[in-house]
Amino acid sequence: MKGVYDAYELVAHHSESITPGEERYSGQKERASGFRATKFAEKWALKPCIFGLENNRYFCYLNSMLQCVLNIGGFMTYYRQQRFLEITLTKPILKGLSFSKTIAQLCEEIDSKNLTLARAKQIKVIQPKQLRRLLQKTFSPIMEHDAHEFLLSLFCNLREETTDKRINYPRDPKSTEFTPGRFPSFIDQNFITIENTQILCQKCKHSENSLQYFTTLPLSVEGIHSIHDSIEHYSKPEELSDYRCEGCKVMQNCQMRRKLVHLSDCLVIQLQRFAQYPRLRKIRGLIKFDEYMDMGTICPDKVNPFQSIYELKSIAVHLGTIYGGHYVAYCKKEDGQWYFMDDERVGKVSTEEVFRQDAYILFYQKQRQDQGC
Ligand SMILES: [Zn+2]
Repeated sequence: MKGVYDAYELVAHHSESITPGEERYSGQKERASGFRATKFAEKWALKPCIFGLENNRYFCYLNSMLQCVLNIGGFMTYYRQQRFLEITLTKPILKGLSFSKTIAQLCEEIDSKNLTLARAKQIKVIQPKQLRRLLQKTFSPIMEHDAHEFLLSLFCNLREETTDKRINYPRDPKSTEFTPGRFPSFIDQNFITIENTQILCQKCKHSENSLQYFTTLPLSVEGIHSIHDSIEHYSKPEELSDYRCEGCKVMQNCQMRRKLVHLSDCLVIQLQRFAQYPRLRKIRGLIKFDEYMDMGTICPDKVNPFQSIYELKSIAVHLGTIYGGHYVAYCKKEDGQWYFMDDERVGKVSTEEVFRQDAYILFYQKQRQDQGC
């Protein structure tokens, strides 16, 4: 892996001789000349938040996912401000050590390190010690783990800590609806994808519908060349032989069809590169993905096509084999520049380089309407 870094320019991104605090001061001084003040404001707003994450063992799965998740617009602000404390639960479970508070601390640390190291002209490296401690029961620190499995676990914990245990997702699309107000957690508000699965009996035409909830959308990649193809493939009807039809009460040939009926602002796609059957293996090769994706064409019933352009924010890549390897992340920061994140190392990369990668997990975020999409 060593040679890879030669190609990347390490970023000493806070290399200006002034700290952000001083910059704010000089900005005020310049306010008298309108033009310069505006230029300053733009520069301040676009300052990318860049940091490395320490890896003293096998934590690349954790670090790559953290880089991707923290790069989602609004995520760090929400946790840094501890807005999860505003959620009223009948039985608060945010006492003591929690994932929500740990992530909040981490976001705060990223910001404070930001100021400290700005003077030292270095890339700040964060040690997510508390998070590792919280995880050690589920994810042994002396083993490699699947980044996707960790992501699901993180989302699940962040969600459960801020959700009333008695409230379950509605399964029947007819009787109830997914009302976001009942599910106030940041995860439910921003990451939930809802799928309607319909099973239609070919004989009596009885149909069963049920809703499934995902925080990440798994897409198969076997024989697939692009994400677009995979999403199309996903909603194609599948034949089920020997499915017990509730109409006929016997085994019948049925047709199963999956449809996305709700998309949140964040769409996390997992390309299923790790196959279990017929044998354990990793499916390699480029699955083409786009920087902008129009999800309105995929679930047109529920999504206003004018509000459904999703922008790629981050990808995670697995290097190596199914038996062992290394995770890295690529993130597009506030300044529009792509960065390569490999634990403690961070460097700028070209957009072309990013789209050549064998992505494993992709993070898309819906463009806001005022961005003129
Ligand atoms: Zn039937």
